[in-house]
Amino acid sequence: MVEKRLPLPIEEAVRRVLQEMDVPVRTESVPFLDATQRFLAADLVADHDVPPFDRSPYDGYALRSFDTAQASRTNPVRLKTVGEIGAGTVFAGDVKAGETVRIMTGAKIPNGCDAVAMLEVVKEESDGYITVVRPFAANTNISFQGEDTRKGTPLVKKGSYVHPGVAALLATFGYNYVPVAVQPTVGILSMGSELLEVGAPLTPGKIRNSNAYMIAAQVRQAGGQPVMYGQLPDDLKLCEQAVRNMLEEVDIVITTGGASVGDYDLVPQLIETLGAKQIFNKVAMRPGSVTTAAHVGGKPFFGLSGNPGACFVGCELFVRPLIRRSLQAQNIHLKKSKAILAVDFPKPNPFTRLVRGILSEEDGIHKVAPSGLDKSGSVISLAEADVLIMLPGGTRGYQSGMEVDILLLGEQQGSEWPWKSVAVSSKS
Ligand code: AMP
Ligand code: MG
Repeated sequence: MVEKRLPLPIEEAVRRVLQEMDVPVRTESVPFLDATQRFLAADLVADHDVPPFDRSPYDGYALRSFDTAQASRTNPVRLKTVGEIGAGTVFAGDVKAGETVRIMTGAKIPNGCDAVAMLEVVKEESDGYITVVRPFAANTNISFQGEDTRKGTPLVKKGSYVHPGVAALLATFGYNYVPVAVQPTVGILSMGSELLEVGAPLTPGKIRNSNAYMIAAQVRQAGGQPVMYGQLPDDLKLCEQAVRNMLEEVDIVITTGGASVGDYDLVPQLIETLGAKQIFNKVAMRPGSVTTAAHVGGKPFFGLSGNPGACFVGCELFVRPLIRRSLQAQNIHLKKSKAILAVDFPKPNPFTRLVRGILSEEDGIHKVAPSGLDKSGSVISLAEADVLIMLPGGTRGYQSGMEVDILLLGEQQGSEWPWKSVAVSSKS
């Protein structure tokens, strides 16, 4: 007899995963270059002013504004060049009345000077003097100490993704080693007697195991560390042993395939023999309705569908936030936004539909359209998708021109809780 499964709304399923499962937060200190694309494990606070000294933003002449107060075309003012400094060197001593220092971008403003005349606006004479024909007000063309940030200012919060801009800051403040969150390990096992290794030639009735590599890429993108457990035929004993090992060795266990109620679907039996506490085995979404979440002594176990589209969605919705939470990321869910549907979905569906889509822009308006065949088994449509179009289930269909929610894929900022307002409004 086929068991009856109760579908859980997506929002509730995500909530339960986060409530009933946990992945420990751990931190480590790593060499700078290993910290990019990781997540900061401590707040970054400026421990000195930036810039650390008043400096010139241009190539030019540092001067005393007072000397130029009367300068004009009819009253050119001559200043004696008493030095030349490039970035990294400082002018020793004070610049006195009637003197100037040739200065390059980034060099410290010499004592006594309070303005910089750009090279383009001065006339350099052959006798070591320059001529200026206009006044320069005090503070003209000076980048002031601390104008970018002041010592003590909190700059980047713990849990921030180390993107290139954050890397620049870390380097500015001398982080040779960077405190980051340890990447949780995610074990991936494919189950299915039809599966071939990626390198194997096709044979009748068989397909290559694409899900394992897709999940590995998703785990990496989320900030986790994939651990490959290969693939096994639909054999309970073999799969059970593999999963037991995974439970010992990794922070999160993922299987793909065999999650449904077919003759060779092992996930339900695995849950039983492992004594796992099941959180759900059906979600009111399409694709991915046969997704199982459970834990064994608190350790997360996900039985994702073998259908590539369904597997993908299950990983993004349920595994990603767990990984991100253990990285102390601020927004652990996929970033939610809105766009205008470019095509009709007239057929109502009782379950929330998550359509792999392509986001485009036309006259300043963001539009979305499906990226290919909208079937859970389609692997091709995954390659082009940069969003999931989220169409809530119910009795209505969706027409082109309606505003819909979208979830951005491969985006680092994330959302706090993408499912708060999944209502769809029609745009007139
Ligand atoms: P299952 O979840 O085992 O019922 O599989 C559903 C569909 O996904 C079937 O067509 C399988 O052949 C296919 N499938 C299962 N595992 C994988 C995998 N690792 N990679 C690609 N397709 C798979
Ligand atoms: Mg199968």
